[in-house]
Amino acid sequence: MRTQVAIVGGGPSGLLLSQLLYTDGIDSVILEKKSREYVESRIRAGILEQGTVDLLARAGVDDRVRREGLKHDGFLLGVDGTVIRIDIQKLTGGKAVTVYGQTEVTKDLNTVISGREGAIVYEADNVTLHDIAGPSPAVSYEKDGQTYTISCDFVAGCDGYHGVSRASIPADVARAFEFLYPFGWLGILADVPPCNHELIYAHHRNGFALASMRSHQRSRYYIQVPASERAEDWPDDRLWNELEVRLSGLAGPITRGPALEKSIAPLRSFVFETMSYGRLFLAGDAAHIVPPTGAKGLNLAASDVRILADAFREHYRKGNDEALTRYPQRALDRIWKAVRFSWWLTRLTHRFPSMSPFDIRMQVAELNYIRDSAFAQTTIAENYVGLP
Ligand SMILES: Cc1cc2nc3c(=O)[nH]c(=O)nc-3n(C[C@H](O)[C@H](O)[C@H](O)COP(=O)(O)OP(=O)(O)OC[C@H]3O[C@@H](n4cnc5c(N)ncnc54)[C@H](O)[C@@H]3O)c2cc1C
Repeated sequence: MRTQVAIVGGGPSGLLLSQLLYTDGIDSVILEKKSREYVESRIRAGILEQGTVDLLARAGVDDRVRREGLKHDGFLLGVDGTVIRIDIQKLTGGKAVTVYGQTEVTKDLNTVISGREGAIVYEADNVTLHDIAGPSPAVSYEKDGQTYTISCDFVAGCDGYHGVSRASIPADVARAFEFLYPFGWLGILADVPPCNHELIYAHHRNGFALASMRSHQRSRYYIQVPASERAEDWPDDRLWNELEVRLSGLAGPITRGPALEKSIAPLRSFVFETMSYGRLFLAGDAAHIVPPTGAKGLNLAASDVRILADAFREHYRKGNDEALTRYPQRALDRIWKAVRFSWWLTRLTHRFPSMSPFDIRMQVAELNYIRDSAFAQTTIAENYVGLP
């Protein structure tokens, strides 16, 4: 088998890249370890920057997000019962974000991609990259007891944090940076109306809480919990009680409902700067992870994919490899800025176990400064809607 670009991983990065390449007449095959049902039901991101929605439009899959996505032109920062509203529309000259689940983005992309014969292989086991440093790379995989090999011009590593692509880059050229946070986010998804029509990022003495949503009828809530905690330690009632405490005075009543999903996500900031090696290019979570505070992960994946798809187009249309050579440099500039914003917003709103009373006073002083300064609010709004 042969293709132009072999894509490892069929999450948002891999699917979007495949569809953008297709619209440019470039052939690709996606190899995905899990089943389609599994990928489509993985509950994760939910806030799309305008640039991400525009990219979905370029890929021809924006009908549903435009119809069903909820436009948000502001969000709330809660400080122990009082509210600061960040009016992103006013502060950024009319920009907004869109609430639309990652599950829906992957369904929309899968619907078009699965119509293309052989464009995606689900449940591909033991995916292995070969000869990525040379001019003729290949990717092999196992399916139903058979081994297949696809030769290609390039490999796009879109296989997330635990994938095989990043691990295929020799350790002696790898440049990685990591910061681990001493807590995680316990999330609950429930079919109940949200407690507020805008998101609330709440600073509270018990720890951070987020009131978010996927639609007018589906709520997504998170609370900060110690890294050692397990979701089983949090029966639904205990979690709803704690949300009521941390969001008290910030929103309307919290409607309770059975958990459709409940899990704990560890928080880390991670950047793997070696985003290309020979004919392998990394995109999305394969190359970087940010804490979900600020909703940057999926949006960063989309911006990597846009830069990479443009670079492949330059190669195939004009025989020009300059954009491919400059891909890591261009992507990393935006990545580091998003890493900084999500790290800063996490530090501002979370209770770290090592914090002294002085540190906490500094946090509250910074939040009060934001409350009183249009300049500070503009900085937050500009980052939240997505930098150019
Ligand atoms: C709890 C949580 C909340 C989040 N909230 C937000 C948010 O509000 N906003 C935001 O922008 N981002 C958010 N994110 C981050 C966002 O979900 C990720 O950044 C996004 O999924 C990245 O997409 P990806 O395709 O690069 O990686 P992934 O979604 O990880 O996809 C990688 C794919 O590769 C496959 N794969 C892995 N290994 C192999 C292999 N060896 N062979 C073949 N296939 C393989 C996997 O099965 C997977 O389908 C959140 C993340 C979490 C965990």
